[in-house]
Amino acid sequence: ARRPMMAANWKMNKTVTEAQNYTAALLPRAADAEGVDVAVFVPFTCLHEVGRMAEDSPVIAGAQNFYYEDSGAYTGEVSVPMLKDVLARAVLVGHSERREIFGETDTLVARKTKRAVEADLLPVVCVGETKEERDSGGMWEKVSGQVSRVLEELDEVGGDGIVFAYEPIWAIGTGDTATPDDAQDAIGRIRELLREERGEDFADGVRILYGGSVKPANVAEIMGQNDVDGALVGGASLEVDSFVELIEAAR
Ligand code: 13P
Repeated sequence: ARRPMMAANWKMNKTVTEAQNYTAALLPRAADAEGVDVAVFVPFTCLHEVGRMAEDSPVIAGAQNFYYEDSGAYTGEVSVPMLKDVLARAVLVGHSERREIFGETDTLVARKTKRAVEADLLPVVCVGETKEERDSGGMWEKVSGQVSRVLEELDEVGGDGIVFAYEPIWAIGTGDTATPDDAQDAIGRIRELLREERGEDFADGVRILYGGSVKPANVAEIMGQNDVDGALVGGASLEVDSFVELIEAAR
């Protein structure tokens, strides 16, 4: 069986001091979260601090972005070796806010994923459709295109070397969660696509998270779906108490 994952995405929130306080409160409470992988995706400015605090704990410190070259004239960017240097073990790739606000393309997302996999930095690759795409029946065309482009670029990778997150854009930060059936439908189809492209073992091993207005009140229903292996949480992850409730629900 796949090990569930509960992941916090702080987005552009928290100072170093706030990050320290959060992490200090989270570590002892996450330590007895038997059977759940706990990850926190934090801003670059507090990543080293969170990475250091979490180093000897099961909590995975992660970044929210990076560029696929290792070094050079890429003003404003941060590379995989730099992330590993500050103790990141995972990274978000292609979050919808990166794609929509900062213009990241499927090709860029695919190259970044390949680089993370090569470097053994766990990529959590985000995919999802807009409201218009869903309403016009284009959900699967969008999502399957995003997933396929990533697979095209990837060489050998085990099911434990990559995580996907299905985050319908209309459900992010809106309070408007996908129904558990909608989440299962999209995530089940992603798994089916992984099976067709890479075989049974890979598809069975890859964790696929749901993201979009997950909170303590709806997490159990979403986690109860067959193919849903966890959640990637924005708003409800910003307070430790609420994130710990989500972790508990994932056990
Ligand atoms: P919310 O949980 O705030 O809807 O954000 C979801 C998300 O984008 C996580 O990456």
